[in-house]
Amino acid sequence: MAAPQTQPQDLHVLIIGSGITGLVLAQALNQAGIRYSIFEKEVAMNYRSNEWTMAIHWSLDRLEKLLPEDRFANMLEVSCNPAVPIDAGGNYPIIHGETGNLLAGVPYAKGLRVPRSKMRALCAKGIDVQYGKNLIDVAFNESGQGVVAFFEDGTVVSGSILVGADGPRSTVRNFAMGSTEAAAVSRFPIFHTNMTVTYDDADKARYVRERFPTSYLALSDRSFHAFQSISSMPDGVDHPESWIFHMAMAWFSDTEIPACYQERVKLIRQKAEGLGEPARSAFTWIPDDTQVHKADISYWATQPWDNRQGRITLVGDAAHPMPPYRGQGLNHCICDVSNLLAGVQEVMRGQSTLRDVVAAYETELVPRGREEVKCSVENGYMLHDWEKVRESPVFRNGFKPMDGHDKVASVEVAVPVGQVAAN
Ligand SMILES: Cc1cc2nc3c(=O)[nH]c(=O)nc-3n(C[C@H](O)[C@H](O)[C@H](O)COP(=O)(O)OP(=O)(O)OC[C@H]3O[C@@H](n4cnc5c(N)ncnc54)[C@H](O)[C@@H]3O)c2cc1C
Repeated sequence: MAAPQTQPQDLHVLIIGSGITGLVLAQALNQAGIRYSIFEKEVAMNYRSNEWTMAIHWSLDRLEKLLPEDRFANMLEVSCNPAVPIDAGGNYPIIHGETGNLLAGVPYAKGLRVPRSKMRALCAKGIDVQYGKNLIDVAFNESGQGVVAFFEDGTVVSGSILVGADGPRSTVRNFAMGSTEAAAVSRFPIFHTNMTVTYDDADKARYVRERFPTSYLALSDRSFHAFQSISSMPDGVDHPESWIFHMAMAWFSDTEIPACYQERVKLIRQKAEGLGEPARSAFTWIPDDTQVHKADISYWATQPWDNRQGRITLVGDAAHPMPPYRGQGLNHCICDVSNLLAGVQEVMRGQSTLRDVVAAYETELVPRGREEVKCSVENGYMLHDWEKVRESPVFRNGFKPMDGHDKVASVEVAVPVGQVAAN
C-alpha cells in the first residue's frame, strides 16, 4: 500500500546541527516560507569551536540563491580579506616550502575565504537555533508519515523529515545507515594542527602578508605542509598588530605527536626553520602560548542509506566527511542544500512527495559525495608525499568538483608559474 503523503501545509523540516550547512539550510527554508526547526547540541554558537578558514569557490552562485540578499551582501565584510572583491577571481598560491618559489596557482573565477566562526554567525542571523539539544534517538511513525526526534534533555519533537547536518561524526548517519559500524568514519592518519595566531607586532604581521595577502599553501620537500591565511582584522586594516591568522601544519605521523601545546609549538618552529619565506618567519614567530589544536581529519565514503520513504536524510559533512586539502567540503555542503531545497519546494508546491524528492536528491548526492571523498583522500596522501605532489588532484583538477573522478582522465588546470598572480 502506498504511504500517505505529507500535505504541503504540514511540512516541517527538522534540522540537526547548526554548522554552516544546517544554518544555510535554515536560511533557505525560511526564505522559501517552509517550516523548520534547527537543533544544536552545543550550548551556544561557536562554543568550544576550533577556528579555521575555508575557501568558497564553485558553489558561490548557489550560496547567493540560498541566503537572504543582505546576508550574502555581508559576506565580503566577514571574509578574511575584504579588500578582494568576490568576483575578482585569482590563483590560490601553492609554493615550494623550502625555496618559497611558486609551484602552481589554483585558479578560481570567483570566490572568497571565510573564517568559520564569522561565517556561522552571519548564517545564524534571524535563525532561532535551539541550543543544548543533543539528538540521541529517532523514531518513525508507523503510518509511513512523520519522524520523531529525541534529545538528551528529554525534548521530543515531531516533523515530516529529519535532516542530519550534524557534521563528520554524525549521529543521524548512524540511524540512516542502521548501525554505528556502517556509519563509522576512518581516521586520516595525519597530525594536522590548527592555530589561531596574533603576532602583536605590526611589522611582523605586515611582513607575512606582503607576498600573499590572503593565503598560501607551502609544500615541503620533507613531506609536510604549512598553510597560512589572514583570518580577520579586528581593529581594521590599519592595525596589523591586531590581525588574526589561521595557520596549519600537518604531516603523517603516529609517533611524533606531543600532547602539550608548548611541545607542539617547539616542533612546529623546528620544522619551520628549514622553510623559505614567508613561511619560515610566519611559523617560527608564532607566540610561545599558541594553542596548537590537533584537528580530527576523518572520512566516510558516502554510501546509500535507508531514507525511510523520505523521512531521514543527510547534508554536508554528515553525508561526506573528507580531508580538507582540496578545499571541497563546504562547497559540497552548499551544493547539497541547494539540491535538497529544490526538492522540498516541489513538495510545497504539491508537485511531488518527500519520498520521491529525497530519493532523487540522494541519487545525485551519493556518487558525488563518494567521488569527492575518495579524491580528497587521494589528494591528502599525495600532497604530503613530495614525490607525488605534482600528480595530486589539486594540481591536476584545481578546485573543480569531481565529475566521474574514477572514470575520466583528469584535466590539466593548474596555471603555469609564470602566469600566477596571487591574491
Ligand atoms: C582545516 C580545515 C580547512 C577546511 N577548508 C575548507 C575549504 O577551504 N573549502 C571548503 O569547501 N571546505 C573546507 N573545509 C571543510 C568545511 O569546513 C566543512 O565541510 C564544513 O564546515 C562542514 O560544515 P557542517 O555544517 O556540515 O558540519 P559541522 O561544521 O561539523 O557542524 C555540525 C554541527 O552539528 C552539531 N551536532 C553534532 N552532533 C549533534 C547531535 N547529536 N545533535 C545536535 N547537534 C549535533 C555540531 O555540534 C556542529 O555544530 C575545511 C575543513 C577543515 C577542518
